[in-house]
Amino acid sequence: MEHVAAIQPWKDSNLAGNTYLTPLSAESVRRLGLLLVQAQAYFPNQILPPGTPDGWLMAWEEIAQEYGEHRFRSALWRVCRKSKFIPGPSEIEEECVVMKMAEQEHKRKLNPYVPCGECVGSHVIRERDGRNEAVRCECWKTWKAAQQKVEK
Ligand SMILES: [Zn+2]
Repeated sequence: MEHVAAIQPWKDSNLAGNTYLTPLSAESVRRLGLLLVQAQAYFPNQILPPGTPDGWLMAWEEIAQEYGEHRFRSALWRVCRKSKFIPGPSEIEEECVVMKMAEQEHKRKLNPYVPCGECVGSHVIRERDGRNEAVRCECWKTWKAAQQKVEK
């Protein structure tokens, strides 16, 4: 499995869609390679076709970029424990999505929106061009911004 990180013929061409994400460090990529070796060992009766581990590692890198290495690792083992066969990247990504949503829900429960007292239902009335309009209160905007912070 030493060759896994070395053979990535499409590496330079297919990352265009994820340029907004911070590239993984060489150390992170190395850890993902080790995880892939471990995941394959977890399913000793399954042999992946040549090239598949290299392609999967590329997909793993993108998923780990998107959802964080720590979350990826947890998702991988959750899926492996439930699977009879080594899971494909899409299954791991789905688990990452589920985990992230559960984390966000948990965070919302820990930090519920509390109106400041100046607003009604998170809105304040203000006058604009001679008409009253309801706009979101600053307290709601502050709370919303904190909710949307991406955690890795
Ligand atoms: Zn308010």
